[in-house]
Amino acid sequence: MNALDISAVTYSYGNKAANALNNFSMSVAPGSMHALVGPNGAGKSTLMRVITGQFRSYAGRVTIYGRTMPDRDTLLSIGYAPQPISVYTGLTAMENLLFFGAMAGMPKTRAASRAQEVLEQTGLADHARQLVSTYSGGMQRRLNLAVALLHSPLLLLLDEPTVGIDPQSRYHIYETLTALNAAGMTVLLSTHIMEEAQRLCRAVTLADKGTVIYDGPMSEIDNLERFFLEKTGRGLRDD
Ligand code: ADP
Repeated sequence: MNALDISAVTYSYGNKAANALNNFSMSVAPGSMHALVGPNGAGKSTLMRVITGQFRSYAGRVTIYGRTMPDRDTLLSIGYAPQPISVYTGLTAMENLLFFGAMAGMPKTRAASRAQEVLEQTGLADHARQLVSTYSGGMQRRLNLAVALLHSPLLLLLDEPTVGIDPQSRYHIYETLTALNAAGMTVLLSTHIMEEAQRLCRAVTLADKGTVIYDGPMSEIDNLERFFLEKTGRGLRDD
């Protein structure tokens, strides 16, 4: 059984002529670290929103470990780090984690012990009681990831987790993801950074303008950038 199956999903924001996702199909194998790659407007964030149940009406089907979405229990077993940093800067890291733990229905003592663990995993343990407003952008990104990990999700969805951060934080996030994946967590990572996808992931879905161009092993593609150019006539970094 796949960790995630997206079958012919079509979604339109309504105010746009083109569909944000167009008959979009892909699968993520359990235990894999899978890249979702495409330039701006490819539909990566929209797909993450569909998977996490943020839209009521879309065509097609999403299943997670065989359960058709939306399904409340399954939603609670997903970790999601959205592209915009989604933490409270007026609280400390620990306060953020305890708040999100409560929102996820975690008992207080479990939330507190998991908070400590995820702060260590993301290299923030020494800054746990510091206001997030004093954090660097990279530290805030790492906290965004820590929040997504708090409830020990089976499937982790990361939307552009390293955009606009310093190399040290980026490297730290790569290390964290590699360790989590080695311990069995399935990860879907959206990115427009080719080196990131090729370095971390053995499977890739390549998308453009809401349509899947390729979905399969990374080893079949020598160079993602060149492959994309050949298929679309455009570069991956073009807007
Ligand atoms: P990506 O994450 O790959 O950059 P998006 O999912 O953000 O792609 O965007 C896919 C398409 O949907 C784009 O044409 C974008 O303009 C449109 N879109 C994204 N978010 C919204 C929104 N909130 N309202 C209207 N259109 C949107």
